Amino acid sequence: MARNGKRIESTMQDDFPLTITSILRHGSRVFGASECVTWQGDHARHTTYRQIEVNARQLAQALTRLGVEPGDPVATFCWNNQEHLEAYYAIPCMGAVVHTLNIRLPAHQLTHIVNDAEDKIMIVDGSLLPVLAPVVSELPSIEAFIVIGDGDTALLGDRPVHRYDALLDAEDGAYTWPELDEKSAAAMCYTSGTTGDPRGVVYSHRSTFLHALATLTNQCVGSTEADRQLTIVPMFHVNAWGIPFAAFLSGTTMHMPDRYMTPAALVDFIEAERSTLASAVPTIWGGILQVGAQREIDLSSIRMGTSGGAAMPRSLMETFQKQYGLPLIQGWGMTETSPVGGLARPPADVEPDSAEDLDYRMKSGRLLAGVQMRLVDDEGHEVPWDGTATGEIEVRGPWITGRYFGIDTPEKFDDGWLRTGDIGTMDDRGYFQISDRLKDVIKSGGEWISSVELENLLAGSPEVAEAAVVGIPDEKWTERPLACVVLRSPGDAGEDVAATLASFLAGKVARWQVPENWTFIEEVPKTTVGKFDKKVLRARFGRGELEILRLRD
Ligand code: ADP
Repeated sequence: MARNGKRIESTMQDDFPLTITSILRHGSRVFGASECVTWQGDHARHTTYRQIEVNARQLAQALTRLGVEPGDPVATFCWNNQEHLEAYYAIPCMGAVVHTLNIRLPAHQLTHIVNDAEDKIMIVDGSLLPVLAPVVSELPSIEAFIVIGDGDTALLGDRPVHRYDALLDAEDGAYTWPELDEKSAAAMCYTSGTTGDPRGVVYSHRSTFLHALATLTNQCVGSTEADRQLTIVPMFHVNAWGIPFAAFLSGTTMHMPDRYMTPAALVDFIEAERSTLASAVPTIWGGILQVGAQREIDLSSIRMGTSGGAAMPRSLMETFQKQYGLPLIQGWGMTETSPVGGLARPPADVEPDSAEDLDYRMKSGRLLAGVQMRLVDDEGHEVPWDGTATGEIEVRGPWITGRYFGIDTPEKFDDGWLRTGDIGTMDDRGYFQISDRLKDVIKSGGEWISSVELENLLAGSPEVAEAAVVGIPDEKWTERPLACVVLRSPGDAGEDVAATLASFLAGKVARWQVPENWTFIEEVPKTTVGKFDKKVLRARFGRGELEILRLRD
């Protein structure tokens, strides 16, 4: 508004770009001695952040020489390790786009993604060449491969192949990072495809910078220079939840498991290098507990473990707390949300280690500053933040995607808000709880049954190793739940144990929610990032491959 003829306007340097280059610069200069520690199976390789920038400059020089130009997508097909981190910085800081490929995708999805993005160069770990080889001929956009470490490069056919180390050694590192527009594309990632085909999301420098800052608040992970963060979540799974960028801003040392991803190997790494933070999906946490059931393990260095990507069973959290004094905490996010939308840090007035403390850590998250969230019912009305009313979660904010790469999906957006496809509740202190995905919730007689709630309760039963619940068609009720259970003693499978489990549930959920259909399986199928793959279970049911036991009322 005009006052004395003068309009009051910001005097700040508002056009100063928020870029990944400034993250890199900060990490290498202010926290130059912090380290990227790559596990080698029985010892670790240590590299400083100062050295990471030196190497990233050489890589940027080499990529320029290979013809990479601003805006070009450069793919990575790599483990979490030092070289992947160098690529994570070199590619966006030179103005190109780092496209992290999920190394566990089925061939048809992998080729679809590379061809969709039209990746120009691919950086591939030598140990993964046999995985890539079968699809190499179907990736016409790739002009050259860069191979990290050893490996039989003949598997890559007749396109130019460069060795990572030799390529960097040939450069002098005299490279100046260009000035970049903060809104330019920096990284791209496809959803993990739990409920459908993977879809591409493109992050900007600005969104990455702001997301990293937000995760560094004490309301979120809040890692510091004193921390050593075990990054179990792959760098191809939503930028390893933003850890590589947050680490350079905060000086947190990164622990990178490389190809040693079994729970037993992860425990070896934790014990040897004394990780203080660790982030993984619930199935990995469950695997670590199984290692602990077989041998004595030392998790005493970890001050906090975070879990996300899927709901965490309460029993798992309780066991970590009781057996190892390790507080786990849930976070929620999606590829589309960079990913963090909230971490369930209990409120200040709650006694640590109390039952209430655990109740809060079991929430999916507390809304992270910077993200706006609302819950919308079937009729499009916003539901109150009262902890009980349910609706689909919608979000908007500076690190939330506004569209998908290359496809038009108006149904995924609601007046500028991203429709997450997750259903949940929100309380009056900003704690939200995901009860299910819209595609997984079981619609029974006009009411909804949360498959996640049944799964988590079943996981707490002593007979059950793991359990997934899916909806199956029912003439009378539209759908009814089918519990697919992996027993600790598979030989017990039968009507008796199904009845025991049904009565175990009967005390905990409404009677009509208790499944009458049971099947005993060897393992719950998992997606490439370790989530329950309910598509596969529904397909197996559809093909009549599951032996169903039906309990009578
Ligand atoms: P995909 O949708 O293919 O699994 P993402 O890895 O992006 O790909 O997954 C995002 C989804 O993961 C969310 O929409 C939500 O359904 C689920 N999710 C993430 N965190 C949690 C959590 N803490 N509890 C329950 N579900 C979660």
